[in-house]
Amino acid sequence: MILDADAAHNQLLAALPDPDRRRWLGLLEPVELKLGQVLCEPACAPAHVYFPTTAIVSLLHVLSDGGSSEVAMVGCEGVVGICSFMGGDSTPRRTVVRSAGRGFRIKTHMMKDEFERCTAVKHLVLKYTQALMTQMFQTAVCNRHHSVDQRLCRSLLHSLDRLRGSELKTTHDLLAQMLGVRRSGVTVAMLKLQAAGVIRSLPGHTTVLDRRGLEQRSCECHAVVKREYDRLMPQRIATPQGFSWGGGSVCAAAWERDVHDKDRLAATV
Ligand SMILES: [Zn+2]
Repeated sequence: MILDADAAHNQLLAALPDPDRRRWLGLLEPVELKLGQVLCEPACAPAHVYFPTTAIVSLLHVLSDGGSSEVAMVGCEGVVGICSFMGGDSTPRRTVVRSAGRGFRIKTHMMKDEFERCTAVKHLVLKYTQALMTQMFQTAVCNRHHSVDQRLCRSLLHSLDRLRGSELKTTHDLLAQMLGVRRSGVTVAMLKLQAAGVIRSLPGHTTVLDRRGLEQRSCECHAVVKREYDRLMPQRIATPQGFSWGGGSVCAAAWERDVHDKDRLAATV
């Protein structure tokens, strides 16, 4: 059984009006999302729409020669599969899990019904779509004008915004695919960050040790996108006393709440 507080680990689900969210608990299915798992191929109509909680999903554009580049990422702030209810049914993009974790999914036809009949759902996902489009446009500019080092920092910062904690479960291969560069280019950039004490990179895991250091080495693109998400997206979180509105990312707030709950439980043992 899905608990209301579990669903609220996704920012969009948390922001649904209470009666709608409670009704959705019967429609949502919890899912484990594995690293590299393909959720939808280009030109295919997805069977499900996904609401990540701890996983991060990449939206990739793939060329006919197999080359690819990430145009946006989606984590606990959003939803994967907007084409399903925007009327287009499919896109030329591939959606791939770039950081393993959990989430929820809902059948596409159910999501379409909710989008068409529920004004609150419609307003919420349209505002989210505007934020997502900003991320796509900024990524396009970034890929053309900024260095691999800067783009890697931008990408790691976007990931960090969607994680509870500072550990990213991904590989250099996958990061190279996201940035549209050779694996060796990512490895060299990662080694520079590791030598500067900004990250610690092990096979399949990267831990960010110094967020400020990443911000200083990134281009402007992360800050531009983050400002737009903060402006457009509702900031509603689940607390032990119920739901409340607050600033900052819901992922970070949920993480802090989990730590607080663990401390509280430890103190009572
Ligand atoms: Zn940039």
